[in-house]
Formats: sequence, C-alpha cells, structure tokens
Amino acid sequence: MYDKSNIFAKFLSGEVPVKKIYEDEYAIAFNDINPQAPVHVLVIPKGEYTSFEDFSAKASDAEIAGYVRAIGKVSRQLELDKSGYRLLVNMGANGGQEVPHLHTHIFGGAKLGRMVTVDNTPKS
Ligand code: AMP
Repeated sequence: MYDKSNIFAKFLSGEVPVKKIYEDEYAIAFNDINPQAPVHVLVIPKGEYTSFEDFSAKASDAEIAGYVRAIGKVSRQLELDKSGYRLLVNMGANGGQEVPHLHTHIFGGAKLGRMVTVDNTPKS
C-alpha cells in the first residue's frame, strides 16, 4: 500500500513546498536535505510507487522510460556527464530505504570512494 503521507508524496501534491531543480511529465528532482556528496540530488517518479520493486513491476513502459530519461537529463543538467556520477536506489529494509516513494540518488562532484559498506553492527 502506498502511504500518501510520505514527504515525497507531499512534495508532489504541493502540500509541502520543495525547490525543484527539474520537472517533466514523469519526474521531479530536488536536492537531498542531508547531502552525502558535493552534489546529491534525488529524482522521483510522479506516480505513486513505493519502491524500485513496486515501480519495476507495475509502472507502464512510458513511465519507466520517462523516469530513466529524466535521471539522465538531470545528470546532464548538473554537468555530471563528463566528470561522472553514481546512481543509488535503496530498496526495503536491507537496502536502507527510508522514504517509501521510489527515489534515485545522484551523487557527484567528487571521487566517491567505496561502492557499498555492509553494516556489521550486531542486531540488538
Ligand atoms: P533512502 O535512505 O534511500 O530512503 O533516502 C532518503 C533520502 O531522502 C535521504 O538521503 C534523506 O536525506 C532524504 N530526505 C528526507 N527528507 C527530505 C526532505 N524533506 N528533502 C530532501 N531530502 C530529504
């Protein structure tokens, strides 16, 4: 079930204002509130999809193509296409997904170090 009260849903409905750095028919993009790199942008689809799992199973071909193209356009708009960047989609508990609306992180502006860190902290 899609939770309409998540913060990204509120950005899309206009209930909570957000400074969009990109918008088209399928997606919007905005800066992450807690940046983990000099450039850290989130791109979200306009449709109500909780996660990559949900989106990849249920979105139309047009929505999938539109979303992927939007990510590319934002990356070029940010002039990351020559220097390079990293895309990240966290999915579910092990992925560390916090906001239950699909979002793709775009990181750039510096060398990004290790790709994945496994959390070895003992479970309490
Ligand atoms: P994830 O762990 O992949 O679900 O990432 C959620 C991301 O959303 C985190 O990087 C947060 O910093 C970011 N975030 C949460 N609330 C906001 C907000 N109000 N505006 C922008 N980014 C946010």
